[in-house]
Amino acid sequence: MKKSLLLATNNPNKVVEVKRMLGERIEVVTPSSYPDISEPVEDGSTFLENAKLKAEHYALRTGMPALADDSGLVIDSLGGAPGIYSARYAETPQARIDRVLKEMSTITNPALRSARFVCAMALVIPSKTDSQAASCIAVVGTVEGQIIDTMRGNSGFGYDPIFYLPSFNKTMAELSMEEKNAISHRGKALATMQLLMYSAI
Ligand code: IMP
Repeated sequence: MKKSLLLATNNPNKVVEVKRMLGERIEVVTPSSYPDISEPVEDGSTFLENAKLKAEHYALRTGMPALADDSGLVIDSLGGAPGIYSARYAETPQARIDRVLKEMSTITNPALRSARFVCAMALVIPSKTDSQAASCIAVVGTVEGQIIDTMRGNSGFGYDPIFYLPSFNKTMAELSMEEKNAISHRGKALATMQLLMYSAI
């Protein structure tokens, strides 16, 4: 029988990326199939805390194994910003990029423009009996790069056009989805999670 998994995100980009990585063996449903369940409040202080609280929220309410991620961009010269506030750093994706570029406008040395994407991923499997506790598997993936001062590329989403990968001489937005999944923070976290999850769900 095909295994089912609730993917605890309504971000269509993430759903496409994760579905493509998991392939046909797992049926993926999203919170849109459960309109009565309110969205969790992401009030954790780390990527990992937020991923765990989102997965727990949906697993406990649906009775399904739930996979959640919390991800973002960590820029060293900005003290780790935007970090867990990546999705809320400004109103729109373009405004978020503009804010980062403005805040980094005085930093010209590429070595001081280092950054990484971080993805924490948590799988919560609800208990099957009252005497059993829910279990949680959590992993973190990262990809290192630099913030460039102009946007390049049209693929991906979010901060991809300003995240430069020296080893590819491309930004994340200049990679195909397959190339991005092979090296990205989410791709790495999911690859590790996949190894652990098939026997768990
Ligand atoms: P989350 O949905 O709370 O994990 O927010 C993640 C935010 O971090 C997104 O809205 C993007 O702004 C940024 N982000 C996470 N992963 C990526 C990525 O792969 N490319 C570009 N931006 C990303």
